[in-house]
Amino acid sequence: MAEMTAQPLIRRLCVIGVGLIGGSLARALREKGEVAEVVGCGRNQDNLRAAVELGVVDRYDTDPARAVADADMVVVAVPLGAIEPVVRAIVSHLAAEAVITDVGSAKGSVVADIERIYGRIPANFVPGHPIAGTEKSGVEASFATLFQKRRVILTPLAETAASAHQRVKRMWELTGAEVIDMGVRHHDAVLAATSHLPHMLAYTLVDTLARLDDRAEIFRYAAGGFRDFSRIASSDPKMWHDICVANREQLLEMIALFGADLERLAAAIRNDDRAAILNTFERAKRARDNLYLD
Ligand code: NAP
Repeated sequence: MAEMTAQPLIRRLCVIGVGLIGGSLARALREKGEVAEVVGCGRNQDNLRAAVELGVVDRYDTDPARAVADADMVVVAVPLGAIEPVVRAIVSHLAAEAVITDVGSAKGSVVADIERIYGRIPANFVPGHPIAGTEKSGVEASFATLFQKRRVILTPLAETAASAHQRVKRMWELTGAEVIDMGVRHHDAVLAATSHLPHMLAYTLVDTLARLDDRAEIFRYAAGGFRDFSRIASSDPKMWHDICVANREQLLEMIALFGADLERLAAAIRNDDRAAILNTFERAKRARDNLYLD
């Protein structure tokens, strides 16, 4: 662990949900010496004990109300469906100066949860979403460099205090991430297209193939392309269930758009429209080649 700086950014960090994201954030801040104490919170004692043994947190409490005591930064890193009950449990136990943020993969649902709990948007709440992750879960999958050179989107609201926004921005910058602000609805539309739809496609493709009679043979001959495409179907089903429910409208729009394009490709194949098939693939290859340099 790095030397503690004279005045770390965070005096006491409480991470509720010490998994891949919460654990990686705690690790990165500890490595930078920018947090004096980390308190973990969750339901599973084995995971929390592992978090202490791995040096990710200093101590833990399974009671969120106790865990947030005197914390100046609270990061809610649980699946989207658990955010409302978790925040409800901590609201009246937060320190006066506490800033609260989350890492949920959809933002509209989180903002609605917070509004339901408080009856308004509190000034110390800063919605956030790191655009980084793997298909693995739990503290053992966490690592300090997860956010390096990745983006973190914050969706501050009109009610968000500039000081709270700045603290959360600085916290993520310390992990090596580039921090970007975005509107809540825009975030959910962009993520529906770039992350949520691809996960739906991967899950559905693997599920379709896994239910074929000759699935054993199909998977035996699956090559690298299938491995690449299907990797994200290993992601946590509960987490993705929650994302589908949370970003329902925007995701349905993208599924409809994709469904229409897939049907157009099927029609081109059915009608032996070779130009249309080739056009589609050429357009896609151009777009993909311009996107990444791999
Ligand atoms: P994870 O590795 O499964 O960690 C989530 C942690 O939350 C678990 O360790 C779990 O610990 C705790 N938890 C679950 N339900 C809880 C509840 N009801 N009350 C308290 N704690 C609970 O998942 P993750 O990948 O870090 O995802 C966490 C959040 O980050 C999600 O909201 C997800 O949308 C978002 N996110 C994920 C990724 C990604 O690629 N994985 C990327 C960006 C954002 P216990 O079992 O001990 O309760």
